Amino acid sequence: MFGKINISADVIVVGSGPGGATVARELTRKGKNVLILERGYDHRDRFYYGTYLGALLYSDRMSLLFTEEGLNIIAPIMVGGATSMYTASAAEPPRWLKHKYGVDIDNEVKDTVEELKIRPLPEDLRGRASTRIAMAGQALGYDWFPQPKFMDPARSQQDEKDFNCQASCMLGCRCGAKWNAAEWVDDAIAGGARIIKRARVHKVLIDDGHAFGVEGRIGGHKFTAMAETVVLAAGGIGSPRILQNSGMNEAGVGMTMDATVMIYGVTRQNGTGKEPPMTWSWENPDVGYMLSTLTDPWLLYPLAAVRKGIGPALSWFQWHKMLGVMIKLKDDISGGIYPDGKIRKPLTTGDNERLNEAYEVCKRILIEAGAKKSSIFMRPMIGTHPSGTVRIGDMLDTNLKTEIDGLYVCDASVFPEALDRPTVLTIIGLGKRLSQHLAGDNEIAET
Ligand SMILES: Cc1cc2nc3c(=O)[nH]c(=O)nc-3n(C[C@H](O)[C@H](O)[C@H](O)COP(=O)(O)OP(=O)(O)OC[C@H]3O[C@@H](n4cnc5c(N)ncnc54)[C@H](O)[C@@H]3O)c2cc1C
Repeated sequence: MFGKINISADVIVVGSGPGGATVARELTRKGKNVLILERGYDHRDRFYYGTYLGALLYSDRMSLLFTEEGLNIIAPIMVGGATSMYTASAAEPPRWLKHKYGVDIDNEVKDTVEELKIRPLPEDLRGRASTRIAMAGQALGYDWFPQPKFMDPARSQQDEKDFNCQASCMLGCRCGAKWNAAEWVDDAIAGGARIIKRARVHKVLIDDGHAFGVEGRIGGHKFTAMAETVVLAAGGIGSPRILQNSGMNEAGVGMTMDATVMIYGVTRQNGTGKEPPMTWSWENPDVGYMLSTLTDPWLLYPLAAVRKGIGPALSWFQWHKMLGVMIKLKDDISGGIYPDGKIRKPLTTGDNERLNEAYEVCKRILIEAGAKKSSIFMRPMIGTHPSGTVRIGDMLDTNLKTEIDGLYVCDASVFPEALDRPTVLTIIGLGKRLSQHLAGDNEIAET
């Protein structure tokens, strides 16, 4: 059956993570007729939202999406995209985005920080064990800082709930403190935008160098939808796949991941597992990695640790006394999203050198914070930031436009190199800037 959705729009936005949600909300506010096409459901009001069952249901391949090298990618497919499972950490865009690539989003970011009240959690909510790690780092000369968050404890009180995020907020926030891009989808819809859920876009329709709509499937049925402007915001894996299906074979050649790993060590006191994730961080931009406080949620911990052997697996029984430090690497562009469906992300020699250096620093900090040296181990690597697959400078100009008129990309795939830090604030900044460009509010020089 081939059904033509009987609606046209000024702008089709594909995907509703921070990139898509921002563009949809901003363009709706500017009077555009916006249609959002989202592959997933809205799970926010379901009983399982924020539980282990929920995380399985809304992660791509039930959380069992792996690269050919065995790196586990967590890619939520749902309204709001990965912000349902993020740790709500916020970081300013790297300076090189403006200075090296000419993309200035300072005003858009400032505006977002004010609107969403982005700031660190109050001192008494940052977690005792996390604070112990930060103090240990500082004692060794590393300048740990309280991590700004898209998290406002007052929002949980408004919902007559207690702020109680623990590490389980990565399954989906149940206390309401965490900002989720789905809220901006709600705003867009309240302003007149339309959303079709379970709509999986397959390709962009192009005629004579101009985009004029998209084609995909809703459930088992094919559909087409028409608009003169199409913004792909299907994420670092979704957007290059759609472009490949549309005949743009350079998409997905090479990717970045901010490859992530946790280092654990057992202490005699309470650990970081029941504390809000990433409340303290330290950045080493010269080498290219960041460290932050984080422990896998209780039931996910053994699934990762068992891949490191029986000793690490048995440390599950001491999960509540475990200190966790996350390493996020600025990884080189490598591998990519392949047309046969495979994802490859090999670590380069440079990546391994950075990782080894970061591991040594983590070990010193954990020991200083009271962890037993013999208990320290590195869990297998994960990828939570698939990105850099449709890069500014390679496939996109600084206005995020492809070589096709009317076809733009606005999500993590546009990063020209690994961000090596939380991505969402940068993606929102890019979404606001693109919306101004599309609405003709300001002239941004084409490059
Ligand atoms: C566990 C975890 C923790 C994280 N913690 C942080 C953090 O603390 N701070 C931070 O800044 N970042 C964090 N991140 C990363 C951040 O959430 C992502 O980088 C960000 O959400 C990417 O935004 P996006 O708009 O590119 O895509 P996504 O958020 O991935 O959204 C893409 C959307 O497109 C939809 N889609 C995909 N394919 C199609 C298709 N073919 N048709 C229609 N729709 C489609 C998906 O369902 C999804 O809703 C974390 C991520 C994870 C998984």
